[in-house]
Amino acid sequence: MKSILEGRPALSSEVEKIAEVAGYLWQNGWAERNGGNITVNVTEYADEEMKAMPAISDVKQIGVTLPALKGCYFYCKGTGKRMRDLARRPMENGSIIRILDDCASYVIIADNEVMPTSELPSHLTVHAHLIETGSPYKATVHTHPIELVAMSHNRKFLAKDVLTNILWSMIPETKAFCPLGLGVVPYELPGSNTLADATLRELEDYDVVLWEKHGVFAKGLDVMDAFDQIDVLSKSAKIYISSKCMGFEPEGMSQEQMAEMSKAFNLPK
Ligand SMILES: [Zn+2]
Repeated sequence: MKSILEGRPALSSEVEKIAEVAGYLWQNGWAERNGGNITVNVTEYADEEMKAMPAISDVKQIGVTLPALKGCYFYCKGTGKRMRDLARRPMENGSIIRILDDCASYVIIADNEVMPTSELPSHLTVHAHLIETGSPYKATVHTHPIELVAMSHNRKFLAKDVLTNILWSMIPETKAFCPLGLGVVPYELPGSNTLADATLRELEDYDVVLWEKHGVFAKGLDVMDAFDQIDVLSKSAKIYISSKCMGFEPEGMSQEQMAEMSKAFNLPK
């Protein structure tokens, strides 16, 4: 069977980016077994022929009704699939779905009947919110960055913006390239509605949210942008931990130096 990517260079390049990021998540040690999820809104690449493609699955329920997603198309990582496999074969470890007109169900249209992640309702809820608020963001990524998760085990880091300030102060680029900082969601059962709701609330103020003792959830213009923000935060966490391993508390940039950064680079915070 012909792949949906054939003759669609723009969609193909988007899926190549997803595969590239999946490889980085695995190489970084952030995606053990089937850990992590990627969902990307690919509606802008849906041409008339793609819109007419027949379903290759039964109609599946999302579990929530999301009117903003009517007629949208998403690439979703498959349930139980591994990032390291997705990196090499994105269309065998993920699929493209079409949201149906009731906005509560979907069908898989390509390339294989790979069931989307069990986290689909929460990822789609975030996408619906992005569309409703006119956001240009198209990608959501969930992964398990080692150092950031380790830092979430220390209660004193979990108060509002404590971790953001520590991470920003480790190296100037983190403030420049993750200018909204890192939101924090207290521990909740993975896949639960409470986790999804708390994540949605934190994403109003942050692009990346840390789930206590679990991982991060990021939104981005595309999948690479979401990855980059997690990557710069993770770099700062590594510098902090390296300093502690050498036996000292890192001094960090001062508040004045960080304010100077905000002014020079016109940063939002
Ligand atoms: Zn997880």
